[in-house]
Amino acid sequence: MYKSCHLIQHGLCFFNNLLASCCFSPVDQINGQIPPLIQDNYWGEIIPVDELFKRMDKYSDIFKSGGCPNECKNCYKIEEKDWTDERYIDQITITHFSMCNADCVYCTNNNERWERTPNTYSIIPILKYLKEQGIIRKGCEFHIGGGEFTIYRECDELLELFAINNFARVFVPTNAIKYSHNLFRAMDEATTYIIVSLDSGSRKTYKKIKRVDSFNQVMDSLKKYAATDKSKEAIRLKYIIVPTYNDNMGEFKKFLKIAKNLGVRNLIIDIDARYSRINNYKIDDYFINLAYKMNDLALKQNFITEFYCFFFHNTNNKTVKKDNFITSFIKSIKFKYFDEDLKRIYSERRYCNTYGNIAKQKKN
Ligand code: SF4
Ligand code: SF4
Repeated sequence: MYKSCHLIQHGLCFFNNLLASCCFSPVDQINGQIPPLIQDNYWGEIIPVDELFKRMDKYSDIFKSGGCPNECKNCYKIEEKDWTDERYIDQITITHFSMCNADCVYCTNNNERWERTPNTYSIIPILKYLKEQGIIRKGCEFHIGGGEFTIYRECDELLELFAINNFARVFVPTNAIKYSHNLFRAMDEATTYIIVSLDSGSRKTYKKIKRVDSFNQVMDSLKKYAATDKSKEAIRLKYIIVPTYNDNMGEFKKFLKIAKNLGVRNLIIDIDARYSRINNYKIDDYFINLAYKMNDLALKQNFITEFYCFFFHNTNNKTVKKDNFITSFIKSIKFKYFDEDLKRIYSERRYCNTYGNIAKQKKN
């Protein structure tokens, strides 16, 4: 019995020039560093299985001897139990691509730590190799990150290899501008789930937030994705409250109508992560109340809701934790980019009390 982490022994995260155990690591983010590294300067090379686990052991051995790797300090994933030395991978994050066919105002790929690049390695060879070696367990979770998965060149092959055959459980955020038939098949025939951040109920608001005029295309894709009972259940429609863009019940009601017409029941409510940072990590009551109101209305209409990770903690029980782990995590990240325009917009708005008051005081 000792403290360790499942991901340090059984996780892989593919970044666009790094291979790590996970994509968490709050302490490292504070220090401007990175998660537990398996290989720096990684570009898709095949690492022999023995070598791979040898590198992973470097961290798990520290846990085994009662310590904690610097990269993992304070991480909420650490737990005490009877750990075994079994060699397998059952959680893979793929976030090594960043290109996208939308341009959302809140996208981190545009603004902050991660810049878009078409320079991406091929991930299929290493994944195929690990699967053939029997190292990737059946039922493994795949979490897709990065840019837009449906325009990533290996999307179809990846889905064929791991999702449609029910080998892995795959979680895909997609903007649904481009329809992928393989993605639909994976949702309908296997255990793949998509999250679509629509954030709007109208073409006009959609265009303002996503900065592409693709609302109608998204509606067409969503109809195809929601074609069967099983695929409907695999969709989560998300409404990110973006201050000054869609922070009103009128837009949310239209969003609910779309969800209802599609037959999609699972909804997520979230808030633009940049707002909190700029507002000194405090969420004004205006938004808390708005989120409650949205949640109440959605529940009344028999939707299943989740307040998503960033600022609100779970769901239909109506409890809100303003400062859960993820909030602390986000707080800990040092952003090199600070959006002056956004700061100005927020400071001019009535509900942005914290920042607005500071701005006012400075003026006086
Ligand atoms: S303890 Fe945290 S930082 Fe370390 S491997 Fe696990 S999830 Fe990653
Ligand atoms: S769809 Fe996702 S990756 Fe693309 S711009 Fe929007 S937030 Fe960024």
